Amino acid sequence: MTETCDAIIIGGGVMGASIISNLATSGVTNTILLEKSTIGAGSTGRSSGAIRMHYSTKVNATLAHESLKVFTNFSDLVGGEVGFVKTGYMVFAPSEASQAFRENISMQQEVGISTREIDHKEAAELAPAFKIAETEHIAWEDDSGHADPSATALAYINHARANGATIHLEAPVIDIKISESGSSHQVITEKACFESETVIIATGPWTSSLLKKINVSLPLLPTRHQVFLIKRNLNKIPTHPGGGDMTNLIYFRPEGHDLTLVGNGNHEETVNPDSYNQKYDLSYAADVWTRLTKRIPSIADAELFTGYSGLYTTTPDLHPIIDSVDGINGLFVCSGFSGHGFKLAPAVGTVMTELVTQGKAITVDIEPLKMNRFADGRLNTTKYSFKVIA
Ligand SMILES: Cc1cc2nc3c(=O)[nH]c(=O)nc-3n(C[C@H](O)[C@H](O)[C@H](O)COP(=O)(O)OP(=O)(O)OC[C@H]3O[C@@H](n4cnc5c(N)ncnc54)[C@H](O)[C@@H]3O)c2cc1C
Repeated sequence: MTETCDAIIIGGGVMGASIISNLATSGVTNTILLEKSTIGAGSTGRSSGAIRMHYSTKVNATLAHESLKVFTNFSDLVGGEVGFVKTGYMVFAPSEASQAFRENISMQQEVGISTREIDHKEAAELAPAFKIAETEHIAWEDDSGHADPSATALAYINHARANGATIHLEAPVIDIKISESGSSHQVITEKACFESETVIIATGPWTSSLLKKINVSLPLLPTRHQVFLIKRNLNKIPTHPGGGDMTNLIYFRPEGHDLTLVGNGNHEETVNPDSYNQKYDLSYAADVWTRLTKRIPSIADAELFTGYSGLYTTTPDLHPIIDSVDGINGLFVCSGFSGHGFKLAPAVGTVMTELVTQGKAITVDIEPLKMNRFADGRLNTTKYSFKVIA
């Protein structure tokens, strides 16, 4: 028997969850989400959860800014707890990046983001443990921090469910049958068939393989990203803000009472999402920790606590794809968020809902995220930015 609904969302990561919740808020409640495993089983459940707004393109900065408004008021706006912790976020850039760094900060301020360049004296007051070279530039975001990605996805799912959505777990989609007229596409799992005029693919690292079934090819690559946690000596470093370090190519944030979570941006390798190494490499931890001690020298005597790997989904310009599929009415793709997806998810749910219900994103101009930019050679370019960093 085939079940019909107003929209089918494939993938129960933070994107699928935010989309189905935002659809419900807009009044589209007869919806079905199909997740092959459990909520947050993909990239979301392994995300570092860092929330900052320092981006080098307006589209990402605006999505991050709009999302922060939701993270800081989540229980009122959506319901549930996402564990948002405001730590502040410091960005470091080497002197050769001065001009682009300042242009980025100006652009972010125009977007409405509370960010500013600070001097070394203020940085030392905000983060006494940090070592900052005289020649480096520093930006400060008061409002940034981190939250719990799995809790966020679950809160969105609970909100959607309470408003009429149906969630199917352990329901891998094995095929999609596109209706030529666009009237009603069929989405097939091992046990059932679902039908809708609107199908949204939010399958993270598995998106390319699912799209292949309908002969759509997009440059979305699953890559392995490692993170690890170290236990600080609280006498030396009681706490510290989050940090994005363009000089040493690392990012870090405090976690819980005495841990620091660390990752970096230049170890990514393309992997098979179904059989990649989910552990972390000690050689990676040694390299990244060494770089961390250049920024926080007294963290050298911390204790290694644990680590793991998860999956980024990358595109050639490291910007996501949020778009309808050219030539197929009612089919949408939302993927390719590399290390940014968690912090953008609330606004992505909003713009995807607008795209589906009004034919156009209103809250944020997502024109730069169209899928045809790869074929047309209109990639998003940035003068200076983190490469693959959370
Ligand atoms: C280690 C790590 C650290 C990160 N740190 C940060 C950070 O600090 N800040 C930040 O903003 N972002 C960060 N990210 C990125 C962020 O986590 C991702 O961009 C985001 O979680 C992507 O969400 P998603 O819903 O698109 O994908 P996913 O979470 O991967 O969800 C896709 C879902 O689709 C399901 N699925 C796949 N195929 C099918 C199918 N055929 N049928 C049904 N279901 C299917 C999967 O099981 C999965 O649950 C990090 C990522 C990793 C891996």
